Amino acid sequence: MPVSINSFEAGAFHPDYGNRRVAGTLTLDGGMATFTSDEGLFAFPLTDLQINLGGASDRLVFFEHANFPKVSVFTTDQRVLEHPAFAQNSTLARARARIRRRQFVARCVTVGILALIVGTVAGVWLAKDPMVKALASQVPAEWEVKLGDTAFQQVSVRHKLITDAAVQKQLEQLAQPLLAVVPQDRYPFKLHIIEDASLNAFALPGGNVAIHSGLLLTADSPEEVLGVLGHELSHVTKQHGLRGIVQSLGLYAVVTTFFGDVSGLAAILVNNAPFLLTQKFSRDFEREADEQGFRYLEAAKLDPRGMISFFEKMRREEEKLREKLPGGDMLDTLDFLSTHPTTPERMARLEQLLAKSPRKDGFTKVDLDFKAFQKALRAKLSQSESGQRPEKKKTKPAE
Ligand SMILES: [Zn+2]
Repeated sequence: MPVSINSFEAGAFHPDYGNRRVAGTLTLDGGMATFTSDEGLFAFPLTDLQINLGGASDRLVFFEHANFPKVSVFTTDQRVLEHPAFAQNSTLARARARIRRRQFVARCVTVGILALIVGTVAGVWLAKDPMVKALASQVPAEWEVKLGDTAFQQVSVRHKLITDAAVQKQLEQLAQPLLAVVPQDRYPFKLHIIEDASLNAFALPGGNVAIHSGLLLTADSPEEVLGVLGHELSHVTKQHGLRGIVQSLGLYAVVTTFFGDVSGLAAILVNNAPFLLTQKFSRDFEREADEQGFRYLEAAKLDPRGMISFFEKMRREEEKLREKLPGGDMLDTLDFLSTHPTTPERMARLEQLLAKSPRKDGFTKVDLDFKAFQKALRAKLSQSESGQRPEKKKTKPAE
């Protein structure tokens, strides 16, 4: 492609200029390469002109000639290679072809290196979750239990627990068919009721699962409570709390621990126990807990429609909260009332699972007088409110 440009900004080294670079202009014309500067002018014949790339990233084009061994002219303007003189002169045409090949190879190397870097980063990124999961599964169950118990101790300081033996017994009776299908070999599951009016529940690593009294009293059936429990128990069995901590420690910690000494992790974990109480699970963890929870219900022959209808209650609750706090975040939403993924999205996913489920009916009735359980629970709440129990700091708004 011929270009109209005939002269190029250039620099030169010439013995006459001393040992320094002189700035000027290079012109290709009349069979000569001419360098013009304030210091004067000199010219090479185009025939037998040597052309090479040099400088950082081969940015410069050097012109030299065997007849003038100590002289060199260079330009950063690579358009010089498009000059018509290169087409007319066979030595120049060969030199240019050689340069083009070299540039092509250099470009391929750059692209190759970039692809390698991108590939490596992507590979490490993709491998991160499986690595975190693999690492979590290596953590001894006792550590996880200790971690969860440490965190739960803090919960019991800040929140009021309903510890009435009869209520506790009924809750365990309610959960029994579900617990029967959840793998029990790793964790000692412990169910707690927290006196709090909100529709919430949460699980800690190692088996502590807490349900708010508000959730138990709002539910219309034992199946609704069991739906929530299935979700929370899945957070435990899928090690979401532990995996969240490991993830927050960063990839470097994961890799070094994974390939190094796992016991160093024990201390780090217990130090991170408070983190569990403010931790928000990722969308993926929430989806996984919904799905695994559904599977547990299915295996226990418990009607998973309870889970869906409870989500509907939550959706209405969220709307109310949004009205109360327009534009505001639903702060301090412990686990179950999680805003990501959205409640309608979670319901839709469960409806899909239900549609594909081989078990659409023939569910087992829960062996519990649910209304009596709620009544007993409510009685314990009013008992504590009337001051028959030692008063602790209230963390919820009055009902
Ligand atoms: Zn959850």
